Amino acid sequence: MTHVEHVPPRPAVPLSWPDWVDERLVTRWANLGVTGLWRHQIEVAELVRGGQNVIIATGTASGKTLSYLVPAVSEVLDGGTVLYLTPTKALAADQLRTLTELDPPELRAATFDGDTSFEERAWARRHANYLLTNPDMLHRTLLPRHAQWSAFWRRLRVVVIDECHGYRGVFGSHVAQILRRLRRVCARYGSRPVFLLSSATASEPGAFATRLTGLRAEEVTADASPRGTTTFALWEPPLTELRGEGGAPVRRPATMESAELLADLVTGGVRTLAFVRSRRAAESVALTTRARLEDLAADAGRPVHDVERYAGGVGSTGGEESTGGGRLSDLPDKVAAYRAGYLADDRRRLERAFRSGELLGLATTNALELGVDVSGLDAVLIAGWPGTRASLWQQAGRAGRDGQDALAVLIARDDPLDTYLVHHPEALFGRPVEAIVLDPENPYVLGPHLCAAAAEIPLTPDDLETFGPSAKEVLAGLVEDGLLRRRTTGWFWTKRERATDLADIRGAGGSPIQVVEASTGRLLGTVDEPSAHTTVHAGAVYVHQGETFLVEELDLDAGVALVETGTPDYTTFARDVTEISILESLRSRPLGPGELHFGSVEVTRQVVSYLKRRTQSGELLGDEDLDLPPRTLRTRAVWWTLPASVVTPLAEEGLDLGGAAHAAEHASIGLLPLFATCDRWDIGGVSTESHPDTGLLTVFVYDGHEGGAGFAERGYARALDWLTATREAIASCECDHGCPSCIQSPKCGNGNEPLDKAGALRLLAVLLSLGTGS
Ligand SMILES: [Zn+2]
Ligand SMILES: [Zn+2]
Repeated sequence: MTHVEHVPPRPAVPLSWPDWVDERLVTRWANLGVTGLWRHQIEVAELVRGGQNVIIATGTASGKTLSYLVPAVSEVLDGGTVLYLTPTKALAADQLRTLTELDPPELRAATFDGDTSFEERAWARRHANYLLTNPDMLHRTLLPRHAQWSAFWRRLRVVVIDECHGYRGVFGSHVAQILRRLRRVCARYGSRPVFLLSSATASEPGAFATRLTGLRAEEVTADASPRGTTTFALWEPPLTELRGEGGAPVRRPATMESAELLADLVTGGVRTLAFVRSRRAAESVALTTRARLEDLAADAGRPVHDVERYAGGVGSTGGEESTGGGRLSDLPDKVAAYRAGYLADDRRRLERAFRSGELLGLATTNALELGVDVSGLDAVLIAGWPGTRASLWQQAGRAGRDGQDALAVLIARDDPLDTYLVHHPEALFGRPVEAIVLDPENPYVLGPHLCAAAAEIPLTPDDLETFGPSAKEVLAGLVEDGLLRRRTTGWFWTKRERATDLADIRGAGGSPIQVVEASTGRLLGTVDEPSAHTTVHAGAVYVHQGETFLVEELDLDAGVALVETGTPDYTTFARDVTEISILESLRSRPLGPGELHFGSVEVTRQVVSYLKRRTQSGELLGDEDLDLPPRTLRTRAVWWTLPASVVTPLAEEGLDLGGAAHAAEHASIGLLPLFATCDRWDIGGVSTESHPDTGLLTVFVYDGHEGGAGFAERGYARALDWLTATREAIASCECDHGCPSCIQSPKCGNGNEPLDKAGALRLLAVLLSLGTGS
C-alpha cells in the first residue's frame, strides 16, 4: 500500500427553487421526490436563465441532469425549443424516460436518431419542442435539411450538450465544427441559443467549453450535494522474480493482486466489487479468488492480508471457524464474475444475489454494464487506472451506503502512469490536472465541415470568424482542389454529392477495416485503418466488448481482419519504427537550457513486430515479426531540444545520450494522459541524440491522428508540470535499470534499446534546471 486517503463527508444543506421556476413544474418534481435544488444546480439554472453559456463539471451523482432540466424545461414553458445532444442513443433514451415521468405541461419531446421511423421524424419536425439527438444526426440530417426545421430553429433557446467530455480528440474536433455550423444555421433563423454543457470533472472546463462551442462559457465546478466518507487506498503490487524484456523485473499483475484482496475482503464479510479490464480477467479474478478462499478454508489458521485493517470499519472480523463473511467453507460460493455477454436473466440473478448478501464478491468488466441497483457496497477494487479521474470516481462511487464508510482501492498496473499515481495521491485527490482536449483548427477536420457549411448556406467572409483563424487558408485550398467555388459574394458548394459525406466524424481517416469472425461471418465492429496496423495485425489478441479474439489474418486491400474466438494466456503489443521530420514550428519558448516547440511534423511509421506477454504474470513470451507497409501521417508534435554545450559534458561523463533521451521519451508518453484525456496509444514519440532537422538532441511526442488532436498542444502548454511528473515517475520506481513501470514501453519499435534510466533522470533534471539532479 502506498497511500491511504480519507475523503471527508459533505453535509446536506437546505434545498430551494429559483423563484422564476413555474409552480406546475415544482409540483411535478415534488411528486417525483425532488424538493429543491442544491446550490450548484441553482447557479447553473440562474446563469442559463440570464442568457450565459455555462459548463457544469461536477462528479458522478451530483445531480447534473436536474441542473440543466430546470432551465431547459422552463424555456419550453415560455414558448421556446430545446436541442439535447448526447454522444450515445442510450443516454437520449434515458433522458426521454425522465421527461416522460416528469410530464411537464406543453412539453413535446422526441428522440431523433438512426432508428427513428419516417412517421416519427415527420411528427418531430412538426411538433417537437424538446428534441433529443446526437452530433451524427445533426451533421448528416438536421443541418443539411435545416429549412424543414425552420420553426424549430427560430425558437431555439437552449442547446444542452450532455456528457460532453466524450467530445475529445479528433471526434471532439468534428463536433466543435458541427456546433459552429449549428450556430450559423440558428443565426440564419434569427435565434441565438444558450449552450449548456455537462461534463465529468476535468481541469479548465470553461476553456474546453469555449473550444468546443466557440463561445465564452461560465464554469460551475463546486458540487454541493451531500455524501459519506470514503477511504481510498492506493496499492502498488510488488516486483517479482520473473524477468521481462532486457532482464527487467516484472510486477505482480493488478488482476492477481485484486483476486487476493477480494478474497481477504470477502473473508471479512465486506461486500466488494472488483473492476477489471476484460471479460477474461473478470472470470480469472473470480476463479483465483475462489481458489484462494478454498485454500483458506483448508488452512483455517492462516493470517489474512492487512487490507482488513482498513476494511475494519465496514465489515466485522470473525472468529476462527467463522468469519465476517460466514463459515469459511461456504465462502468460495460467495464469489462470482459478472460481465457483458451473460444473458440478461443471469445478470439480474447475480445482481439480486449480490444485493441480498448471498454473494459477497463480484468481479466485473465495466461500471456502465452493471445494473443501476448495484451500488451502496462496502468496498470497490479497481484493477488499473481506468483512464480518467471521471471513470475512477464513477467506479469508486459504487461503494458507500447511507451514512456508512466505504473503501476504494486503486491497484496499479505495470506502467508509468499507474506508478506515478499511486506515488502521487495529490494528482488524484487534489484539483484535477487532466483537461479534455481537442483541436478545432485541425485542417483535415475543418475542410469537410467548411464544405458542409457552404452546402447548407453559402459561406461569406463574415462567416470566417466563426470557423477560426485557419479557415481562410483552408478555404483557399478547397477552392484550389475544386471542392468549393469562389464567387464575389462568397464560397459555394456546387457539386451533386452530399458535402457531409466528406467528414467521417467517428473515424480517423481512411476507410475502416471490418473485423469479422471467420467461422460465422459475424461483423464484430470496425477499426480505422491507422489503428488496424497496431490492433488487428495477424496474431494480435483483440478484445471486443470484453470478449477475447485472435486475429488470423489482416487483409488491408480487402479492408478485412478475420478473427476467431480464443483463450490465449497472453496479450500482444504491436511495435513500430518511426521517423519524423519537422514541417513547421508554430510556437516555441526556452525551457531550462534548451528549447520547447509545438508545430507540424510528418511521421512515417511502420509496424514491424509484436510482443507476447503472459497474462497471469506479465512475463515476456516472445517477439514475432510482421510485414506491414509504412504509413505517413501529417500531424502536430511537441518537442524539446538541448544544446551541444549542455549534452557534450554529459556524454564525456559517460552518460548514454541516446538511451537517456529514449527513456525520457517513453516515460513522457506514459505520463501525458495525466494532463490530457488521451490514451498512451493515441500518441507516439521519437527521440534522437541528434535530429537532422535540429542538429540537436531532440525528443518528440506527437498526436497519432491525421492533422493532430490537441494532445501534443496540451503537452506544450503544461510542459513543465508534465516533464516534472515524468521525472518523478522514473525516480519513484524502485527498479535498478528500468522496467515497464517507468521507462520501458510496450510499443517500442526498437525493443526498448537503448535505455538509460539514470541518464534520463539526469537529462530531465538538466532540462528542468534542477541542478545536477539525483
Ligand atoms: Zn522501473
Ligand atoms: Zn522506444
